[in-house]
Amino acid sequence: MAVTPLQDPALVVLVGAAGSGKSTWAADHYRAVEVVSSDTLRGVVGSGPADLDASVDAFDLLDRIVAARLRRRLTVVVDTLGLDPARRSGWLGQARQHGIPAVAVLLDTPDAVCRQRNSRRDRPVPAPVLLTQLRRMRSVAAELAAEGWDDVITVRNNEVADVRTAETPVSLPSGRSEESRPRVVLQLSSVPWGGEPTAWLRSIALAADEVGFHGIALMDHLIQIPQVGRAWDPIPEPFVTLGLLAGLDTRLALGTLVSPVTFRRPGLLAKAVATLDVLSGGRAFCGVGAGWWEREHAAYGLAFPTPGERLDLLEEGIETMRALWSTGTRSYAGQRVSLPETTSYPRPLHDVPIIVGGSGQRSLSIAGRLGDGCNVAADDRLPSRIDVVRTAARDAGRDPAEVEITVLDVAIVGRDRDDTAARVERTRGRTAAATWATRHHAGEPATHAERYRRLGMLGVGTVFLALPDLSGPEDPEDLERVAPLLAALRT
Ligand code: GDP
Ligand code: MG
Repeated sequence: MAVTPLQDPALVVLVGAAGSGKSTWAADHYRAVEVVSSDTLRGVVGSGPADLDASVDAFDLLDRIVAARLRRRLTVVVDTLGLDPARRSGWLGQARQHGIPAVAVLLDTPDAVCRQRNSRRDRPVPAPVLLTQLRRMRSVAAELAAEGWDDVITVRNNEVADVRTAETPVSLPSGRSEESRPRVVLQLSSVPWGGEPTAWLRSIALAADEVGFHGIALMDHLIQIPQVGRAWDPIPEPFVTLGLLAGLDTRLALGTLVSPVTFRRPGLLAKAVATLDVLSGGRAFCGVGAGWWEREHAAYGLAFPTPGERLDLLEEGIETMRALWSTGTRSYAGQRVSLPETTSYPRPLHDVPIIVGGSGQRSLSIAGRLGDGCNVAADDRLPSRIDVVRTAARDAGRDPAEVEITVLDVAIVGRDRDDTAARVERTRGRTAAATWATRHHAGEPATHAERYRRLGMLGVGTVFLALPDLSGPEDPEDLERVAPLLAALRT
C-alpha cells in the first residue's frame, strides 16, 4: 500500500468500532513493537484477546507501556477502541507533557462492514455491544475535533484519506517554483574498504551510478574526523582516489567536499582539479573551504593561520584557480593575486564549478561573490544563510541564481520501517534512539524525498547525502535502498 509519511515520533491513538480495521491499519504502518494493543495484552495477562475479565490488568499495562515509550520519545500506537474520552485525554496529556505530536486515527468504516467482519471472528463481539460502539462512532469525530489533537486522520477503506503532517510548512522564497528538486550526490565520508580498497571503491562508484546518484564527493581530511569515525580509520588522499573513480565507466560528477585551502597551494589544487576534469571527461567539481581542524594541520606539518587569514587564503585561492583555468598563458594581475604567467595545461574540459564550504558570514559572502556554489548546513538557519549568499552575489553585480546552494545531509535511510529502526539501533552508539533518529532524519525513502523537495523549494540545488551506516563488504548492494529516494526526485 502506498503510505503517506506520518509524523515521527508521535502518539497515535486509533479510534474505531470492532472490525473497523484498527489493528490491520496499525500493522500496515508501524512495527509490531510500536503498537500497544489492549486485545494483545488481554491475551498476555488473561486467557485470550477477548478475556474481558483481564481488562483492568491489560489497560494498566497498556498505560505503563505508553508512558514509558513517550518518556523515551518513541512512537507509540494505541490500539484500543479509543472511544473513551477520559482515556484519550490521559494519553493526549502525556504526549503534551513530553512535547510529542499527538494524532488520532479515525477508522471510518461502514457499519455493515464492521458487522460482517465481526460475525466472521472466532469470538464475535455481541451484537448489542457492537451496536453501542457504532452509535458512539457517530459523535466521536466531533469530540476529537474539540480535544486538541495535532492531527486527526480519517481512514476510509483502510486508506489514509486525509494526512496533514504537523511539520511546519516552509514559506517559499518568491520566484522559486515547487518543481525545483535537488540533485543528490553521494558523500563518501568514510571508506570501510577492508582489505580490497580498489574493489570497494569501484563497486561503490558503479552502484552509486546505477541507482541514480548525480556524483560522488570525497572528504578532504588527513585524519578521519571525530564526527565520522576513528582517527585510525582509512581516509585516502582524495585526488588520487578520484583519479581511480574517473577511470570507471560512469556519469558521476566527481570532487571534494571540501578541500581546505590550507592543505595545498591553490596552484596545485587547480592542477589536480584540472587533471581530474580531463581524466573524467569533464565531470569535476571543486569544493574549497577555509579549513577548521587544527589537529590535522599540526600532525602533517601544515601551517594553520588565524580564521581571518585562512579566509584571505580562500579568496586568493579561488582567484588563482580561475586564473589558471582560463585560456591563454598571459600574466595575471587580479585584485588579490598576481601571476607572471598562467601556463597551465591541461586546461579543464569544462567550467569547473567551485563550491565554497562554510556557514560563517564571511564564507557565505565569499561564496556569493566568487563561488559557483555554496555548501551550508541544512538547519533552521538555512534560509538566512541563503539570503546572505544571494545578497553578497547581488552586491557584487551578479545574478544570485549563478550561485547554487548545496547542503550536506547526514541521513539514515531505511528500506522500510523495520530496516530504519534497525539502522538507528546499529549506529546510535550511546545516543538515545529518538535523538539519533531525529538528528539524522531517520526514515524511509519517501520521507527523505519529501524533505529534499522542501529543501528544493527553499532554493537548494544539490544535496550531498552522507550515509552513516555505509560499512562492510555488502555495501554496494546496500546503496539500492536509496534508489526509491532518487527515483522519487526524478518523477
Ligand atoms: P479492529 O477490530 O478494528 O482491530 O479490526 P481488524 O484490523 O482486526 O480487522 C478486522 C477484520 O477485517 C480482519 O479480518 C481484517 O483482515 C479485515 N480488514 C481490516 N481492514 C481491511 C481492509 O482494508 N480490507 C479488507 N478487505 N479487510 C480488512
Ligand atoms: Mg484489533
